[in-house]
Amino acid sequence: MRLLTFSLACLAATVLQAQVRMNEAAAKEAVYRVVRHSGLMPNFTVREDPNVRTAVAYIKGHDRVIAYNASFISTILDSSRTDLAAVSIMAHEIAHHLLGHTLEPEAVRPGDELACDRYSGFILQRMGATLEETLAAMKVAGDVHGTEKHPPRHARLQAIEQGWTEALRLARGEDPMEYHVDRAFLHVVRMAGDANTYYVDADGRLVWFNAHAEPIEFGTCTEIVKGEFRYELIWQDHTFQVDSRRTIWRQAEHGMPLQVGRMVPYASEAR
Ligand SMILES: [Zn+2]
Repeated sequence: MRLLTFSLACLAATVLQAQVRMNEAAAKEAVYRVVRHSGLMPNFTVREDPNVRTAVAYIKGHDRVIAYNASFISTILDSSRTDLAAVSIMAHEIAHHLLGHTLEPEAVRPGDELACDRYSGFILQRMGATLEETLAAMKVAGDVHGTEKHPPRHARLQAIEQGWTEALRLARGEDPMEYHVDRAFLHVVRMAGDANTYYVDADGRLVWFNAHAEPIEFGTCTEIVKGEFRYELIWQDHTFQVDSRRTIWRQAEHGMPLQVGRMVPYASEAR
């Protein structure tokens, strides 16, 4: 009898799970789970918003808001078969708030996205997720929120895995990941208003890494001869030109080209 009750309960739980959609309570729960594992007080405003394409973090007044599209999250849950997928998306958005990215919403900073991906990997490992579960949302979506400013999926998966591995090392009492650079860098790329540092390696790969991470390749740098321009930087749908004076330009859709950064020889910055 006891066994029967138990299996009925199990069955009910399974059915219920299959029916669960990302309602606001579930979304808040997901955010709460992340916040709990980071030792913070949960002071985020979580809200459903059909006008958001995927999920997004922004500041409104004094509120730190995380808004999400309920059917987007449901699709992720259906395709990835793990509720941790939704948690990983919320973790990414929370990281945008924690790292202060939401203070300048218009900036294009691939490194910021990778840093948030890394955080989501870190937190999910601490929540007991397997690497497979941790990567599930990104494998399905590839673009977890509604801007076109993201690095390509392979780079983001790598960032998530870095965070997950780092948390595992920490849990096991191992030393942090070795900070090593085993490739030859040619240029340092600095974008205006972007605290991240990017590098171009000898194979023309555009690379990001922070002080704790392995380098992650997210784009390319190609030599070109096109009027004044000498190099082209590309990631996802972003293209930038570098002139002979090493100024980085973005061709605005209408009007004048914009000066958006500098590319300097790596050797000049190395000590
Ligand atoms: Zn993001």
